[in-house]
Amino acid sequence: MENKEKKPKNMAPLSLARHGAVALLIFLTLTSAYSFLTEQNGTREEIALSALAADITSGKVVEIIARQDEIEAIYKDTKPDAPHIFAKKEAGVSVTETLQALGVPEQKLGALTLTVKRPSGFSYWFGNIAPFLLPILLLAFLIWFLSRQVRGAGMQALSFGQSKARIIFPHDKKQKVSFKDVAGAKEAKEELKEIVDFLKNPKKFLDIGAQIPKGVLLMGASGTGKTLLARAVAGEANVPFFSISGSEFVEMFVGVGASRVRDLFNMAKKSAPSIIFIDEIDAVGRVRGGGMGGGNDEREQTLNQILVELDGFEPTDRLVVMAATNRPDVLDPALVRPGRFDRRVVVDLPDRGDREEILKIHARGKPLFEDVNLRVIAERTPGFSGADLYSLMNESAILAARENRATVTQYDLIRSIEKVMLGPERRSHLLSVKEKEITAYHEAGHALAASVLEHADPVHKVSIISRGRAAGYTLKLPIEDRKLQSRKEFLDDIAVSLGGFVAEKMLFDDLTTGSSNDLAVATALARDMVTRYGMSDKIGPIALEESAGLSPFGGEYAAREYSEKVGSVVDSEVARIMSEAEGRATDILKKHRKALDTIAKKLIEVETIERDEFEKLLIANGIVPKKKQEI
Ligand code: ADP
Ligand code: MG
Ligand code: ZN
Repeated sequence: MENKEKKPKNMAPLSLARHGAVALLIFLTLTSAYSFLTEQNGTREEIALSALAADITSGKVVEIIARQDEIEAIYKDTKPDAPHIFAKKEAGVSVTETLQALGVPEQKLGALTLTVKRPSGFSYWFGNIAPFLLPILLLAFLIWFLSRQVRGAGMQALSFGQSKARIIFPHDKKQKVSFKDVAGAKEAKEELKEIVDFLKNPKKFLDIGAQIPKGVLLMGASGTGKTLLARAVAGEANVPFFSISGSEFVEMFVGVGASRVRDLFNMAKKSAPSIIFIDEIDAVGRVRGGGMGGGNDEREQTLNQILVELDGFEPTDRLVVMAATNRPDVLDPALVRPGRFDRRVVVDLPDRGDREEILKIHARGKPLFEDVNLRVIAERTPGFSGADLYSLMNESAILAARENRATVTQYDLIRSIEKVMLGPERRSHLLSVKEKEITAYHEAGHALAASVLEHADPVHKVSIISRGRAAGYTLKLPIEDRKLQSRKEFLDDIAVSLGGFVAEKMLFDDLTTGSSNDLAVATALARDMVTRYGMSDKIGPIALEESAGLSPFGGEYAAREYSEKVGSVVDSEVARIMSEAEGRATDILKKHRKALDTIAKKLIEVETIERDEFEKLLIANGIVPKKKQEI
């Protein structure tokens, strides 16, 4: 999915570079100081000690300056720019002794001006210690540098407490999003306008004593534009946007998440008015203590810190915390208490009109061929989220580009619908003759059951070209967007799911693994009917499974809130629903055996049957097709 936000500014390389630069600077200063001290400045010429002794004896030298391990000689006729003359001597032995040992007579020595220079305190100390210290420093630096590189990516040893928040500043035109970029979601936008208003003009609200919500929770299925909306609020209000994802809080060490939260809030407060956005807050905000064998300490500490921070700022701080989740049901009740995330904004899946608007937004900058009718595409994509529509548009542009066309056509868009729904076609996956026959009957079974059962969605397309992980598929689309599903629809859906299984069993007296997904989906649906929707008469109107927690192994489990006895009734009810559905599917396929054969044969022949063609086959076999979706 597109993500306009920049990758998090990784703190590690940054501080690594900074520390590296500092260390390098120190190193350079030390070495240059060292070389300065040892080398002296100006040109120098070194002569042998014996030569110097001879020169002194012959009276050419007027002055000698003795340093620790060398002697500088100043000659009678030395010009100002001439090189300084040096001779090495043993350290720790006096100059006079050295020269006398080389045969310089005592009176000659007496005639010389003799200066003995002790190195100054610092340079003496430094000159002595540097030769030992420098290599050690260098080594230490190297070790440190290497270990930083190893740890850098993962743990960020020196900066793991710092927040990893991404920041979008209002002057960043490229990343700025406004309400114009979010199509549909009218109610959500309406509610959020209030927040924008507050951030822009807090005085108006504060003066009248209005309580502005601190926390706004955006709830909605994934891809419905929650993140986009939060950014749009920041864009509209022209304030910095600090965002972090719930999952980023959870790191290796206990306490890191909590300190991140603290940093994030501090940072945001400093640049108030601002917005903090915690994406996927359910990753940290799940019901505490719900897991088996104690909770996850790290998660709980992070959550507690979020609660502390939420309680700890005042409306006058002009900070608004937004959060998004697609699992509002699992959130800890403490998070949604008044004074915390008490404002809840539901972001729905787009309806037909919204889908068209979203398509229009993402069609910007993509030249469309004149036959394109986005309305039709919107009609054909019930259940698509904004993110799905975005990738639909993107896929069709890719298709057009791949075929070297400059414009996107309606056909590109239609092909992309299926691609987004089912994953790409795998034409290369060749079925053997037997596999092809089995798949054809399997899909024909689904399609036939869907066409005969009153409450099932009509078939749009049947295919035995493998797609994603499925060997074949039967594409059914609901006639309209729907919010509620009835018991009859569920029962028909289960029977349709079993259509493939039943067809294989009937025709080949054998079963393949191709039905496993169908069975899993159908069984889960049957179980939900019994335990969640009160659709079983034996169990009655009780929701048995509701609260879900996190198991310590990371997975989710539904808390069983019922006894073994009830459990076995549930199991028998699920089994009953499944076997009744199998019976209904079997009856249909037996009754319309001719139709089943016709569809399967056609599938083997042409591999894909579109809706119109499929309905002709139905009519030829005496089945009345469902009402066509009106466009
Ligand atoms: P969520 O956070 O709800 O999972 P996102 O905000 O990340 O969804 O949406 C992903 C992408 O889908 C967005 O970047 C945008 O391109 C597109 N999108 C989603 N909803 C809309 C919308 N209402 N209008 C325009 N684009 C949308
Ligand atoms: Mg998101
Ligand atoms: Zn199937």
